[in-house]
Amino acid sequence: MARSVTVDMTGPWPHKPYTFRALQKTFGLMWVRCDTCRRYAALRLTGLLDVDYRTKRFSCSRCGSEAWVCVVEPTKEKGMQDYCLDEVEDPQRHPAAVDRLTGKRPRRKVAHSSGELPGRKIDPRR
Ligand SMILES: [Zn+2]
Repeated sequence: MARSVTVDMTGPWPHKPYTFRALQKTFGLMWVRCDTCRRYAALRLTGLLDVDYRTKRFSCSRCGSEAWVCVVEPTKEKGMQDYCLDEVEDPQRHPAAVDRLTGKRPRRKVAHSSGELPGRKIDPRR
């Protein structure tokens, strides 16, 4: 397990590290949460299992803020008991999130005071 592996991005290495599949093996069911709406949903990994989770960004389909993957259900965390399970049947990316994720940099007309942090964040708490 601890041997280091040089990942050849072009090679057929079948066991990629840092995939959602690896995360799921470690943590089981995971969640994505929006700190703006204080809502969360089960993380659906359909089509994502072989994706490098370090490159994947999630966003809230309701408000477009970045959404964070967490390994503990938010309502079981101290201070997050008011988070609301809000599964969206067929979530669509919020237009603001599409712009952000595709690297378009729209002039920021939207007030940006909701404490959205730059950069990716995988919740390190267990
Ligand atoms: Zn939201």
